[in-house]
Amino acid sequence: MFKRILIANRGEIAVRVIRCCREMGIETVAVYSEADAKSLPVMTANYAVCIGPAKASESYLNQDAILETARQMECDAIHPGYGFLSENADFAEKCEKNHIAFIGPSSEIIRRMGDKQEARQLMIASEVPVVPGSRELIHTVQEAEELAEKLGYPVLLKASAGGGGKGMRKAYSKEELAGAFQTAKAEAKAAFGNDDMYLEKLIVNPRHIEFQILADRFGNTVYLGERDCSIQKNNQKLLEEAPSVGLNESLRREMGEVAVRAAKAAGYFSAGTIEFVMDAEKHYYFIEMNTRIQVEHPVTEAITDIDLIREQIRIAAGMKLTMKQEEITIRKHAIECRINALTPGTISFLHFPSGYGVRTESHVFTGYEVSPFYDSMIAKIIVSGDTRLEAVRRLRRALEELIIEGVKTNFEFMHLLTYHPAFLKGNYNTGFWEEHHKTIEKWNEEGREQ
Ligand code: ADP
Ligand code: ADP
Ligand code: MG
Repeated sequence: MFKRILIANRGEIAVRVIRCCREMGIETVAVYSEADAKSLPVMTANYAVCIGPAKASESYLNQDAILETARQMECDAIHPGYGFLSENADFAEKCEKNHIAFIGPSSEIIRRMGDKQEARQLMIASEVPVVPGSRELIHTVQEAEELAEKLGYPVLLKASAGGGGKGMRKAYSKEELAGAFQTAKAEAKAAFGNDDMYLEKLIVNPRHIEFQILADRFGNTVYLGERDCSIQKNNQKLLEEAPSVGLNESLRREMGEVAVRAAKAAGYFSAGTIEFVMDAEKHYYFIEMNTRIQVEHPVTEAITDIDLIREQIRIAAGMKLTMKQEEITIRKHAIECRINALTPGTISFLHFPSGYGVRTESHVFTGYEVSPFYDSMIAKIIVSGDTRLEAVRRLRRALEELIIEGVKTNFEFMHLLTYHPAFLKGNYNTGFWEEHHKTIEKWNEEGREQ
């Protein structure tokens, strides 16, 4: 097992990994930017090293500074968390060359699956259903038009290097296509330095259903059920839950087995996620694989009682999975709610919910300054219950206990969302936010006036 792990990340996920390492008897080195000098990872890791200014490109994305720190601090592994360098194949390759374990799959796998168009081709070859769309990259508006004509509108233009909901545009008609192509391409160029594009049929208001995978290097691959992440704003997830109301036992098994097949086709090892969209008739299509731990992984931990970070570290250290597929049982219903800061500022008072069935993952505290430099997510509230209704009621009471003063957050909105009939029925899809946010915002305003 590793003796000392460098955590190449910040925020709640850095805290999450540090906690796990402590429990496993592994020392930790936090790297941080000047903006994060007063942060929980810095305070709780065994060692902390400043690697640069606030700007991520000069700190959390500064590969050489991170590798140099790992060498100097004699770390035998690096945990990349999510975002930042977690899906950067070049960085994983540099770790391999320096004989530092990258806690994730190999650079080769990251490269293959990070190219979303190439991943699509691999899935087609492995008989995993993909969204109808391009077989190769789309280079010109004309190519896009021809294919869109064949598939029928609406279509979705997507960046092959895309992530975090960026580099994606819908087109409902030929008139919209050229504009969508150019804006998606420009956004991809700015965000990823790569503007390769492909095209998919737009599945109108699908569910986003993803399967958590664990695989070791000995050919053992298991799925740990799904997560329904259909409540999204601008293609970014707001609330995730498991199991999904949209799946029954047989469909869950079928999709889980497809997800295992997809992971095996990629030669995958480590924790990973196979993402699907599912239409109203329950046809499902692969959209991408995330070759890292995900923000919403605690939902799966809550329903399966398996510590995914621990498994990820064990696999990276060359150990076997601790469980077999038939030993994985879904015991609970779990929901995660992301709390995002709507403004930067200093948290003047903070109280987090706790109690039976409630877990809070966060890096913030009273006096913490929410920086404009990084992701706006400041906490995740995860609840579990024996039934969905119990989990929903628990989430409400958890959000009622939450107090964050000094910065505006989305928590009132999220609390009211749990009362919306479409959410209560559970048969919502990715159109939920667009369709219902105005109603929920109105409830919020009315509540304030009273
Ligand atoms: P999930 O929430 O399913 O884990 P997301 O796609 O929302 O996955 O990404 C998680 C975090 O990583 C978010 O903070 C997002 O902004 C960031 N992220 C994801 N992909 C990229 C990327 N290619 N470049 C930069 N940031 C990314
Ligand atoms: P990212 O790498 O940014 O996470 P994804 O390919 O996972 O990109 O897509 C992000 C979100 O966009 C999905 O969760 C889903 O809501 C939506 N989406 C992606 N592809 C399609 C599609 N073909 N039809 C409809 N919605 C889609
Ligand atoms: Mg995705």
